[in-house]
Amino acid sequence: MNDEDGPPSSSRRCFDDVKSYSSHNAKVSEKLMDSAAAMGFRDRSKRRSSLPVSSLSNRRRSSSASAGSTSSSYTGSSSDEEEISPREKQQQTSKGMADFCVRNINQAAYGRKEIDIAEQEMPGIMALRRRASEDRPLKGAKIVGCTHINAQTAVLIETLTELGAQVRWSACNIYSTQNEVAAALAEAGFSIFAWRGESEEDFWWCIDRCVTAENWQPNMILDDGGDATHLILKKYPAMFKMIKGIVEESVTGVHRLYQLSKTNKLTVPAMNVNDSVTKTKFDNLYSCKESIIDSLKRATDMMFGGKQVVVCGYGEVGKGCSQALKALGAVVYVTEIDPICALQACMDGFRVLKLSEVIRNVDLLITATGNKNVVTREYMDKMKSGAIVCNMGHSNTEIDVNSLRTPDLTWEKVRSQVDHVIWPDGKKIILLAEGRLVNLSCSSVSSFVVSITAATQALALIELFNAPVGRYKADVYLLPKKMDEYVASLHLPTFDAHLTELSDEQAKYMGLNKTGPFKPNYYRY
Ligand code: NAD
Repeated sequence: MNDEDGPPSSSRRCFDDVKSYSSHNAKVSEKLMDSAAAMGFRDRSKRRSSLPVSSLSNRRRSSSASAGSTSSSYTGSSSDEEEISPREKQQQTSKGMADFCVRNINQAAYGRKEIDIAEQEMPGIMALRRRASEDRPLKGAKIVGCTHINAQTAVLIETLTELGAQVRWSACNIYSTQNEVAAALAEAGFSIFAWRGESEEDFWWCIDRCVTAENWQPNMILDDGGDATHLILKKYPAMFKMIKGIVEESVTGVHRLYQLSKTNKLTVPAMNVNDSVTKTKFDNLYSCKESIIDSLKRATDMMFGGKQVVVCGYGEVGKGCSQALKALGAVVYVTEIDPICALQACMDGFRVLKLSEVIRNVDLLITATGNKNVVTREYMDKMKSGAIVCNMGHSNTEIDVNSLRTPDLTWEKVRSQVDHVIWPDGKKIILLAEGRLVNLSCSSVSSFVVSITAATQALALIELFNAPVGRYKADVYLLPKKMDEYVASLHLPTFDAHLTELSDEQAKYMGLNKTGPFKPNYYRY
């Protein structure tokens, strides 16, 4: 939630910290990967999901609507938001379990349906669940999880448990929890501490409850943003030393890990799954490309054609947002600090300008930098009335929302996650999700992409938990390339995709093993 640790240089991220993977001892992971063919990696007999695509997309639509904050088919959830704090409620599951804190345990049945639907669209993680449930490669793992809590995360949580892990879980974002899903997980016996609309204090309390419990000594962390890692390190340093591994998903969390490593404060191995190809390309790029449109439509009903848009940052997320909006006819400008990304934007047909050059004209401003104070009050003072401001980057640091909380400006809530901020002269800007991640606050992310990320996270946990002493030191590592390829392979049967196999002659010519890895670590895709 905070941003006290700045980002490391990206060159260091790309080159210095890529650790090679010594495969000879990777028993559990290798066993999984060796099974890739049986899973459908090259199995041409495996078909698409049993549900027809049209049926799936219809079901997802209803799921998405209920998951979003602007509409819900579950009539109980919106009025619940106004209820007393879940921390003051006495709740227990139908089996009498009370080690959780969610908005309303009575929403569990509805949440279970959401999880069932997500499972249909998460073929990779479900395949991993089936494949590894016999071996239980996470037996003995006690995982503190701090990620978005939605139907897709529930599929990951239940997979990790099937693979032998015990987990306690909190939310990494105070607005993104699907309350009914949190309830369903609690009802299934999971210690979940999360609800939509937590206060900042609730947020840290929830993480703390996941870290400390009777007869509970966590040995793994699965983080999205670095908050669980931060809390354990700062508040429970002795416990931090007992952790076997950290798996971190977000750019910001990864930045923090590299900072810790640089200052010798990182005492355990950490896996940077954010920069694994399957995560970066699919979650940051493809997922944001679709969810930016969905969240803007739901929150504002805006028409995109002909609108002037500025996207700050042309990394993976910025590329996805820019491309999606351009495809709908918007006029998109890009701001960048990095000449390489700026040149990419130019070559993709976007005008690269300073924010000060376009700010007066834009109808929509999107931040996607992972940085702080990219949009300050000075810029927002110059925006035209009716302009929409939102953030797709991490946390709430990119837009200086605090600078808008001054006596001269009036805030008017017009919808859930939509505020009008009104200037003394009547000008208003439309701020979405109070500057937090707009897609996670105002829409849902497609389960298929989350399946890719979830499979990556699960494999990273398996790898760190089972790695023999000495393979990983107290440093930040990338997921071994072969595992990245395995994650992708888990998802190919959904598309009935048929991979070409190298002949012996070709493999020799290319200097490759016929089962991969197919690219060197420095290959950029
Ligand atoms: P990235 O590093 O690939 O891209 C960020 C870009 O922003 C870089 O090219 C950088 O040069 C540029 N930048 C930095 N400061 C800037 C500034 N002041 N002005 C203009 N440009 C600036 O990272 P990414 O993968 O695109 O992720 C960006 C952010 O989005 C991260 O915080 C990440 O955690 C978050 N993210 C969000 C979602 C989501 O669902 N909304 C998904 C994945 C990642």
